[in-house]
Amino acid sequence: MSVEVAFATVAGLRGALRAGETSAEALTQATLARIAELNPHFGAFREVIGDQALARARGLDAAGLSGPLAGVPVAIKDCMCHVDGTTACSSKMLEAYRSPFTATAVERLEAAGAVVVGKTAMDEFAMGSSCENCAFGVTRNPWDRTRVPGGSSGGSACAVGAGMVSAALGSDTGGSIRQPAALCGTVGFKPTYGRISRWGLVAFASSLDQIGPFTRTVEDAALLSSVMFGKDPLDSTSADVAVDDDLTQVERDPGVVRIGLPKQYRLAGANDPAVDAAVERAQQAFEAAGAELVEVDLPHTEYGIATYYVVATAEASSNLARFDGVHYGHRTPGVDDLVELYSKSRSEGFGEEVQRRIMLGTYVLSAGYYDAYYNRALKVRRLIRGDFDTAFEAVDAILCPTTTGPAFEIGAKTDDPLAMYLNDVYTVPASLAGLPAVSLPGGFAEVDGKPLPVGVQLIGRAFDEARLLRLARVLERSAEHHKTRPDLTAATLAG
Ligand code: GLN
Repeated sequence: MSVEVAFATVAGLRGALRAGETSAEALTQATLARIAELNPHFGAFREVIGDQALARARGLDAAGLSGPLAGVPVAIKDCMCHVDGTTACSSKMLEAYRSPFTATAVERLEAAGAVVVGKTAMDEFAMGSSCENCAFGVTRNPWDRTRVPGGSSGGSACAVGAGMVSAALGSDTGGSIRQPAALCGTVGFKPTYGRISRWGLVAFASSLDQIGPFTRTVEDAALLSSVMFGKDPLDSTSADVAVDDDLTQVERDPGVVRIGLPKQYRLAGANDPAVDAAVERAQQAFEAAGAELVEVDLPHTEYGIATYYVVATAEASSNLARFDGVHYGHRTPGVDDLVELYSKSRSEGFGEEVQRRIMLGTYVLSAGYYDAYYNRALKVRRLIRGDFDTAFEAVDAILCPTTTGPAFEIGAKTDDPLAMYLNDVYTVPASLAGLPAVSLPGGFAEVDGKPLPVGVQLIGRAFDEARLLRLARVLERSAEHHKTRPDLTAATLAG
């Protein structure tokens, strides 16, 4: 009954379970043991729910494993409501919060037989690009512990990148799945806005938030997606668009395709050479597979960051108003005056970056500035979406970098919020346009003699995820970067 869980894939574990080579309980036990061994070095999990996971696994074994993910251990980001354990959004504000219900996406995974083993660390309320804004300690990159895993879903990226679990859920508002996936060497997939229900996902910016999977392979990303996709009556923004029956058929030929190369994304000299090399290799792989490469124009790209940081903070300031110590969240004891209670509870409960976002958002929504900032940002968002609409008349998918470089050192950008925000330059446009986008391992930068992963990103037409994942598989097959693993030997971890 011993099946290797380290760096396993969902498909691999599923096969072993179906063949009777292992049980849900044995896999869960082995996964918990691996997390116990590695998590102290990486801080990928904020909370492990071992007892509940084992109980669930035993129940699955007893009932007979059925369902597409039956018996597969998974992790979920700490902002997804779950009846087991706490849902803290890695914030002091929600440190003790126990949700009375489970998010639809997680519920669908569980209905398919997945076993949730824990909640992964994140930037507080999903605000950040490095996981350094977590109230309970930093998360480290599996390839180099002195570096960040990216964010905000850094814990999920680290858990999959270090081979602790074969799959984890993240949420992506402006890049929080794709960016950490690139920096940790995993696949990270943000489906079309509305594809996966947001019910039970603690809201950051509701018009942008989207749940998606971190996996080691494109096939596994498709497997999890096929379980989670689809309309949910509990989320009015979830899309009533048919899900392709053959979403999981990633080996299928994507057909004759044209791949767009946005000229605005070639920021001269801005990228690490390893990133440019990865995109170059991806272009060659597509050409070798018979695709036509076409230059596309996305003229409003340069306004992406500014637009995103107006829209996202505006929505965040409204969404986070509920955490006032009365409706929800940390309450400062011994305060009688209501306004003082709000102010003290929020000052104690929220970290610095969350407070900065709330203030920015409140400012751009204030009566005197609403038109100048928020309204204008909505108009520019429309233009950015229009750029993509035009581009997708000529091409089937767009190829670009996920980030400008590999993982940076812990602390390198914490004093400079703007430098941190600029991390999202290649990821926010697809978010603003609501388009599906996937980051997959694209190669490695060599830094101080160590390999650090870089990603390549593919952006697709709305609801065209099946083709997008097949195209991602073309790249994955051509290079197999996902087979390279970080060195997690005791000697490296001691260093
Ligand atoms: N890094 C971006 C931000 O800080 C994106 C976060 C996200 O996608 N949740 O807002």
